[in-house]
Amino acid sequence: MKKVILLSCLLCIFLTLQVKAESEKNVLQERMALYKKMESITFVPWFYYAAIDQYERNIRSVRRDIPKQSSGSIAIYIRPEIWSGGLNPTTNDTNPVTISLFGGVGKDGNGDGQADSTNDEDILRTFVDYLHLQHTDREHLKIKLWRYYKRAKTVELITQYAQLYEKYNTLDIRGNAFPLPLHYNYSYRSTWGDRRSFGGLRIHEGTDIFANYGTPVRATCYGIVEIKGWNRLGGWRIGIRDLYNNYYYYAHLGGFSKEIRLGQIVEPGTVIGFVGSTGYGPPGTAGKFPPHLHFGMYKDNGYTEWSFDPYPHLRLWEKQDRLKQKRKH
Ligand SMILES: [Zn+2]
Repeated sequence: MKKVILLSCLLCIFLTLQVKAESEKNVLQERMALYKKMESITFVPWFYYAAIDQYERNIRSVRRDIPKQSSGSIAIYIRPEIWSGGLNPTTNDTNPVTISLFGGVGKDGNGDGQADSTNDEDILRTFVDYLHLQHTDREHLKIKLWRYYKRAKTVELITQYAQLYEKYNTLDIRGNAFPLPLHYNYSYRSTWGDRRSFGGLRIHEGTDIFANYGTPVRATCYGIVEIKGWNRLGGWRIGIRDLYNNYYYYAHLGGFSKEIRLGQIVEPGTVIGFVGSTGYGPPGTAGKFPPHLHFGMYKDNGYTEWSFDPYPHLRLWEKQDRLKQKRKH
């Protein structure tokens, strides 16, 4: 009897996961159709719409001053006072005539006569018109995005996201790897938030993974190399940005992989360098501490970046890599 219950539980979990994966796939298909439609109207490639939308999705999930997305599949948010017009007595106006009368920007994108700020097509159309994106080339697109977001970092992030979408030609870009190959010797524990004193008292913004000199260091995600070079604290270090608002920081490297350059797209498992003990001084300083990989993770909210504990992620990726290995054997 117990066995039957257990089996049906497992079946239930399996089916739920299947349904979840299926609905995620549907959402991505729906989004892609919307981006392609905008591409056909504006001649701006779909991957820019995907990038802008993904940026807004990321920001929305970490900001308290923007309401959480309640419906639809597009995450772009236009404030009610901009959508309806500042003096409009109807905060969430959907009437295109009164919206335009009060200087609002809300547009009807799906042709139902309403400019509904919760409708995906209306949102995209409004965004496109508000920023004047029709027939915009890549350089002008950057300028227009800068005018809207007023932050160079945001334009850089959107441009990176667009590069990833363009290269893989899909919205479904996911997957992770543990930063070190599992068959090497290494050890780590949760050290995020520990005190550090070199370069002024500060909090340890990462997890230290101890390993021998020369152990390969791998990208943990699909992303873009955003920083590469020397830093007084981090030594030879690399920064990689993914699509889901994570910035990965690898420090104290002994060196970089030859083929890794700034702006390059990497995949989970791409070797980016190897373990060393560089840092805590001018370029070339090494050996002031035992060799290890310092691995940090950061998020961005549209204004600023902050560090969070990578330890739970490392444990998860390690487990997933172990499972993948087992399946291969
Ligand atoms: Zn560290």
